[in-house]
Amino acid sequence: MALSLSSPVEALTGVGPERAARLAQRGIRTVADLLHYLPFRYEDRRQITPVARLEPGGTFLVRASVVDASAVRHRGRPEVVLHVLVRDDSGSLRVRFFHGAYLQPRLRPGQTVMLYGRATVDPMRPAVLEMVNPQLELVSRDGNGRDSTESGRIVPVYQAIGPLSTRWLRRLIHRTLAALPPELEDPLPASLRQRLGLPDRATALRHAHFPDAGASLDELNRFATPAQRRLIFEEFFLFQLGLALRRQQEHARAGIAFRVRDDRIRQALKRILPFKPTAAQKRVLAEIAADMERPVPMNRLLQGDVGSGKTLVALEAAVIAMENGYQVALMAPTEILAAQHFLSARRTLAPGGYRVELLTSGLGRTARRQVLERIAQGTAQLVVGTHALLEQPVRFARLGLVIIDEQHRFGVLQRKRLREKAAAPDVLVMTATPIPRTLALTLYGDLDLSVIDEMPPGRAPVRTLWYDEADLDTVWQFLRSEVRRGRQAYIVYPVIEESRLELKAAIAQYEHLSRTVFPDLRLGLLHGRMKNEDKDAVMEAFRRGELQVLVSTTVIEVGVDVPNATVMVIEHAERFGLAQLHQLRGRIGRGPHPSTCILVAPRNAAGDVRQRLETLVRTSSGSEIAEVDLRLRGPGEFFGTAQHGAPAFSIANPLRDYELLELARREAFALVEDPARAHELDGVRAALGGSWAQRYELARVG
Ligand code: ADP
Ligand code: MG
Repeated sequence: MALSLSSPVEALTGVGPERAARLAQRGIRTVADLLHYLPFRYEDRRQITPVARLEPGGTFLVRASVVDASAVRHRGRPEVVLHVLVRDDSGSLRVRFFHGAYLQPRLRPGQTVMLYGRATVDPMRPAVLEMVNPQLELVSRDGNGRDSTESGRIVPVYQAIGPLSTRWLRRLIHRTLAALPPELEDPLPASLRQRLGLPDRATALRHAHFPDAGASLDELNRFATPAQRRLIFEEFFLFQLGLALRRQQEHARAGIAFRVRDDRIRQALKRILPFKPTAAQKRVLAEIAADMERPVPMNRLLQGDVGSGKTLVALEAAVIAMENGYQVALMAPTEILAAQHFLSARRTLAPGGYRVELLTSGLGRTARRQVLERIAQGTAQLVVGTHALLEQPVRFARLGLVIIDEQHRFGVLQRKRLREKAAAPDVLVMTATPIPRTLALTLYGDLDLSVIDEMPPGRAPVRTLWYDEADLDTVWQFLRSEVRRGRQAYIVYPVIEESRLELKAAIAQYEHLSRTVFPDLRLGLLHGRMKNEDKDAVMEAFRRGELQVLVSTTVIEVGVDVPNATVMVIEHAERFGLAQLHQLRGRIGRGPHPSTCILVAPRNAAGDVRQRLETLVRTSSGSEIAEVDLRLRGPGEFFGTAQHGAPAFSIANPLRDYELLELARREAFALVEDPARAHELDGVRAALGGSWAQRYELARVG
């Protein structure tokens, strides 16, 4: 059978079960997968440089013949170094291959070789130029090398896959491209390609792997050649198509049309508002209310920096739903946070007389049964909980609105499951994770986006300082002086996995601090392994001001709101990620008093750590921090694993290719929304065959 894009990689010569398994680890199962494994870099090996023209420090391609090759073992060293002397018409060059003994039989005198590598100077003999471990290619006697994959061209460089080297991949891909028919089925409709000036699939694949001699190396390495752009566009386009289809499906479902423009509701909202909403809060509430009013299910992401007042807006949405006779579910990622939300929701909603319930796994059997009953009967109007809300026995009488806090910690599947608890409730997802707006589109492509980009007034700024551990005394002195003035403080330890060992260290520190450093202050300890009642008790004591200092693990990262706390000391700040530090810092600066965040980390920290800490010292803008974070970590890690539904692109990079992402999004949504183009959509599906389902699934879950 002829080779096609859907052939398994085993169909290729040189790929047996073992290598196929290796490839599969990188998601490469078919010929199409292999061809989408693009070079991450290109090398210019078009020009052959005469040996006499090499200059130290430069990278060159040399064509020469072997004069001599001898294996040398240096005294006291186990490895064998192969010393090779080569010569061309202009002069001779020394080459050393470490661990190169195996090459000796092939480097007979007279053998023509291509060498690609850096010319360096042997420190022992400064007059002699050499190459150490260059790329080597043997040129056969008839002087071929015209269709060499290694030289005389721009050479693609692939990320090696375990033992499968870049060179092996290069040859495999070269052979595969040659074995394929000249025309390949193309998932991009021809009309679209023409309009956007994109090359067809076969051309794009060939040029992206083995560019023409005339291609621009600079463009290639920026992934900006027409071939590369076409492949990047394709990847975004198919992903966005999945999102567009999902959104279309959602919109086809009948949702609840809440009454919104109604005096009674306006009154109800006014009653619960403890202060004047900011302009940003007003704007996003209007966006949410407009969604709620429409008879299709709302799917909206509410993004805002910590402390920007998202919760208040969410509670306003809850009031609208409750005034319409519906129930509201409010989900938080942790029990502590659920408890927090419960308390603040009850406080905020008290003037309206709404019935707010907390459902967590910490409830006793009887209490739990009673709460479940009230949920089922509809007497519970707002139910706050963790993922426990997703468990089977929770049945809502009339669920109308689902609010999910801190989405990034929430599996996407959980979001889906909760939505299934009712016919088609409106869904509002809140996140404080500063996602650059540019990327919210990829991550939450089927959600509408509302952003609170303004802080409530009267917030004193937070200053951030970086101290070395050696200066802890100064830090503690400062903390004590703030507490003496009536303020409160957090001391945070990096217990990231809540493992026993880490926890022990944190507890030991707590004991040390209470006994030795602050024997005169009232300290409390909070960590993830405590019983819920105990956690609640500690949090409440801190909120009431009975505790002056809260020693804590990162469980306080989200949601804790104690405006009187103005100091946060983060020990071992170098172990936390940028976003996490930013979230932690968001716990202070919530009241009228100036706040101070002290990062304790080695002053001589370098690299990423230094950049993270310096960024925090410099700015408290969530979006600026997000951009830096994204730059430091790259989109893959930034979004975490696929568990968060982050799309795994193989070629495209949402950061670098943002403009193509936007274009792809516009085109994909336009295609789905135009009934007259249904046949084009079918064409896309047909061209993708089996892999369509896969890609669509990715988008659907994302
Ligand atoms: P987020 O959920 O975005 O982190 P919250 O809704 O918890 O923020 O609000 C943070 C703090 O700011 C809370 O103490 C809240 O009561 C207060 N707050 C919210 N909106 C306003 C406002 N418009 N004016 C003054 N304070 C506000
Ligand atoms: Mg919040």
